[in-house]
Amino acid sequence: TNTLSQQKKYGGNSEGAPQYSPEGIKPVRGALVALVRNQELYGMRKTVRELEDRWNHKYNYPYIFLNNKPFTEKFKQGIRDLTKAKVEFGVLDKDTWGYPEWVDQIKAKEERDSAKYIKGHSESYRFMCRFQSGFVHKHPLLADLEFYWRIEPDVNYYCDIDYDPFLFMKTNGLKYGWNIAPTEYEPTVRTLWNTTQEFMKKNPQMIPDKNMIDWVRNSDGSYTRCHFWSNFEIVDLSFYRSAEYQAYFDHLDKSGGFFYERWGDAPVHSLAVAMFLRKSQVHYFDDIGYRHPAMAHCPDGSKERGKCICDPEDGWAHGFSCAKRFRSIF
Ligand code: GDP
Ligand code: MN
Repeated sequence: TNTLSQQKKYGGNSEGAPQYSPEGIKPVRGALVALVRNQELYGMRKTVRELEDRWNHKYNYPYIFLNNKPFTEKFKQGIRDLTKAKVEFGVLDKDTWGYPEWVDQIKAKEERDSAKYIKGHSESYRFMCRFQSGFVHKHPLLADLEFYWRIEPDVNYYCDIDYDPFLFMKTNGLKYGWNIAPTEYEPTVRTLWNTTQEFMKKNPQMIPDKNMIDWVRNSDGSYTRCHFWSNFEIVDLSFYRSAEYQAYFDHLDKSGGFFYERWGDAPVHSLAVAMFLRKSQVHYFDDIGYRHPAMAHCPDGSKERGKCICDPEDGWAHGFSCAKRFRSIF
């Protein structure tokens, strides 16, 4: 199957691309999922417009929008106007947004007040990171999904995508797909690596022999701070729903680091990938042209046959040390 789907993927034959009807059953129970605020409607519309034009008008995978507050009618209509695919809107369960009871909120505020890193002062940003780390995959609207593709407002999709990435992942037994891999800013994850190592020592039976730990661990045992940028990720949700992932999240959550520091869901997801998955289960979608404010990836032109609006010479995220480390290790 590998060769077949690779052919399909890089063949660049758009006539051969399947078309799925909006109502029809899809080969994968997948959806495009965003956590987003009402005031981000126009940024979200840009993302949806581009995804529809570049890909989903042929595939009609459903969208799911989640919010800690109810969506306004304006937001719902503003999104529905852009697609014939099914769109659902949901509010978060109360206990998935906010502080767990064991967190010392005074200590959390002291950290926010003195933090000198980006989003360091924000309380809601930390609620967001904790939600995306531990709860998004448990939201009732996602209950029937096998895969999700995370999307955000104000991102760009630069290239036509002439195949079904969900099907590609399912066919090839892939659990985690990524596109940009930078290094994390140290002040936001001061104790994340130690806390993760503690987890590994306590639960050796959960850590398979063959994994990707050397992507996040230097030869001297220190943290590489490599992470997959989770604003784009395509994930087999059985991974986040596994007992191992849950145990890891609980361990992190108990330590309070989402609040006493500012752990992002990107390094958390990535450390779980590195501990629990083999490299053959993790896929670099280097053929998908993508930009999130501050960083972008433009595919090598030979793979895309001119279907991108970005300059392949600007494929700078491909040169990031963590993307190189992924390509070169193992
Ligand atoms: P960054 O990508 O790390 O700079 O963080 P963003 O501000 O883009 O937030 C990540 C995602 O979570 C985006 O889809 C935001 O729309 C969403 N988000 C962030 N904060 C909130 C919030 O307080 N409420 C809701 N509903 N969504 C949020
Ligand atoms: Mn963002």
